[in-house]
Amino acid sequence: MANYTINYKCGHSAQKELYGKLEERYKKIEWLQENCLCPECSAKEKARENEAALARLKMAGLEVTEGSEKQIPWASSIKARYLDAVERIKATDVSEQVMARLQEYARNSEAEWWIDNRRDLADEESILEFARLEIRQANDPDY
Ligand SMILES: [Zn+2]
Repeated sequence: MANYTINYKCGHSAQKELYGKLEERYKKIEWLQENCLCPECSAKEKARENEAALARLKMAGLEVTEGSEKQIPWASSIKARYLDAVERIKATDVSEQVMARLQEYARNSEAEWWIDNRRDLADEESILEFARLEIRQANDPDY
């Protein structure tokens, strides 16, 4: 275990504790420097994203309203990304039944639902799979 100075891609540097084999630590340092913002910039970026997500949902009238103070911003970011993905899905030749289901999800205002299902709602492919599975289950209760 040791402290290293990481020169993040935002131009700031910060100390970070790293563990494991020396070779792994150097790989990690290289990766952090190429891909990451310093902790401070990364927190600011996250706050900006959350604000943008909240504004976007508000404009669409699709805010996440049920949940704790901590859950709502998180769920809102997930939902804003979901809405972007649904826009892209809408442009493809997806069935009306699936599209209706996706719009039904968009009206869900419970933070917990968005957080629990965040992995299934992360990209177009998983969203479609998620909706199709639920449709199949609804049509065939024994499925
Ligand atoms: Zn920074």
